[in-house]
Amino acid sequence: MEPVTYAVDLDAREQHLVAVRMTVPGDATGDGGRLVVATWTPGSYVVRDYVHHLQRVVARDADGDPLPLVQTDVSAWELPPVVGPVTIDLEWYAHDLGVRTNHVDDRHALLVGAATFPAFEPARHRPHHVTIPGVDDVVALLPGAGSGPYVADDHAHLVDAAFEVGPHRTATVDVRGVEHRVVWAGHGAGLDVDRLAADLGRLAEAAVDLFDGDLPTPRYTVIAVEGQGGGLEHRDGCVVSFPPHADGDPARRRRLLGLLSHEHLHLWNVRRLIPAALVDPPLDRPVLTPSLWVAEGWTSYYDRVLPARAGVWGVADLLVGLDALRDAVDRTPGADLQSLRDASRTAWTKHYRRDENTPNAGTDYYGHGALVAFELDLRLRAADPEGPGLDGVLRDLWVRHGRDPDARRVGFTEDDVLAALARVGDDDLARRCDELVDRPIRPDVAPLLGAVGLTLQEDGPADVPELGLVVGPAETGVAVRTALRGGAAWRAGVSGGDRLLALDGETLGADDLPAYLRARGSGATVTATLARGARLIERRIVLDPPRPRLRLAVDPAAGDAAALAFTRWCGLPHPLPDVPAPTA
Ligand SMILES: [Zn+2]
Repeated sequence: MEPVTYAVDLDAREQHLVAVRMTVPGDATGDGGRLVVATWTPGSYVVRDYVHHLQRVVARDADGDPLPLVQTDVSAWELPPVVGPVTIDLEWYAHDLGVRTNHVDDRHALLVGAATFPAFEPARHRPHHVTIPGVDDVVALLPGAGSGPYVADDHAHLVDAAFEVGPHRTATVDVRGVEHRVVWAGHGAGLDVDRLAADLGRLAEAAVDLFDGDLPTPRYTVIAVEGQGGGLEHRDGCVVSFPPHADGDPARRRRLLGLLSHEHLHLWNVRRLIPAALVDPPLDRPVLTPSLWVAEGWTSYYDRVLPARAGVWGVADLLVGLDALRDAVDRTPGADLQSLRDASRTAWTKHYRRDENTPNAGTDYYGHGALVAFELDLRLRAADPEGPGLDGVLRDLWVRHGRDPDARRVGFTEDDVLAALARVGDDDLARRCDELVDRPIRPDVAPLLGAVGLTLQEDGPADVPELGLVVGPAETGVAVRTALRGGAAWRAGVSGGDRLLALDGETLGADDLPAYLRARGSGATVTATLARGARLIERRIVLDPPRPRLRLAVDPAAGDAAALAFTRWCGLPHPLPDVPAPTA
């Protein structure tokens, strides 16, 4: 079958313009059809309305005569039946540097499939080819070289890809015969690409071991652009963003390696072990996605365990990474209101639309879902210290619902996950998982930590009374990001968006708060002066008792069996008696 082709013209890149000439072959136009611009991109569940940046769309027949394109929807046009091929000229404005959006300027071009290449509906299932004439420094998450063609099996494959054009530094590493590339497309020479590729190789080895040697990609590419962090998985790679000097700072580097591990694990979980609702989904409207607590949550658990198994994280990194999950869910009052299942269903309207009320209104299927995975893993390992733990459940799901391309066309459901838990563990484990995702309750890992030689330890005295605020810096005073539902400040009527200027007439900054609260003591009433828009207001706050300060730690009393279970779980030797300090 003749392919649908797209020729990309970057001549006006200084003006942030991308011209795309799309050609639909003549054997696909006889009945007319529908030109559809995606409203969202796979992997990021929010309506982005990419059409916002489309500023010209013109269709012509083979003689160059204009054809009527009638807009019938926000992101769709109808084309009448035509004899012969149709060319459609599109002009995009591209000035939004992220991992899910297009950005072109004098230096480079990042083009995301969904944001650049509309579908012609009767031709969606034929091959789609992309050329970028006149340039040769192209990196694509599709087979091809130079200026192209880059070949996608169908339109879904094309929107699951990205292109980076411009100067970049590349390092490659071989993982079980599959080339893995890291492409740094950001500015500056500060990033050690070779070291990053070596780390990616170790992370990939750990992931391949998790899936019993399966590595289902012909070539894996990380396109890394400048930004503040974040990533988007694709079928054969990912786009990630991080600051140019991220690998020079231990805490940033830890997060960066976690991010690479996360996106790489999506090669299996999500991209090939696919939630049923996300198998060939419509891209012009949202789809209900009930199992993101597995797709993203379990991936977020393993993006902490796999770096340890790969040896790119030490024990301290692992503990800090896992503890952040526990602490975040603890500090989310919305976890008492919203179940994980509902958090997943409402991703489109809540997770990607964060505001000051988000922690109060619901829970986060990433961190909370990861904590569920941690509890399930600990339960499995406690019941069978020599068993595979949650790895066995992921492998079971992979073998039944992901390894075989036919199975991928069906995907997996939540019931399939529960059935896998029952097979690898027992019915009680499946019931516990169902309860954890169906009701607004938190996982409880504390009593299970001993199974892998860990414990919760007091981390210094708990002597700072609770105000119940999430705060940030402000030019004067303290910015209130969120007043946590049920907390002292919330009960007194403080709200997210307020600026805290003074307590009992004393001005203060965010750094001064702990010392100030410690001096006043639990149960004390303080008068807060707040700026709310143009108004000054006062609220009387009764301080709550301090929260116990707990930290995930290696159990000094762990015996040999628990120490062995620790190593089976995370691949690192149990570090007793020398427990290193966290890197940050
Ligand atoms: Zn993810």
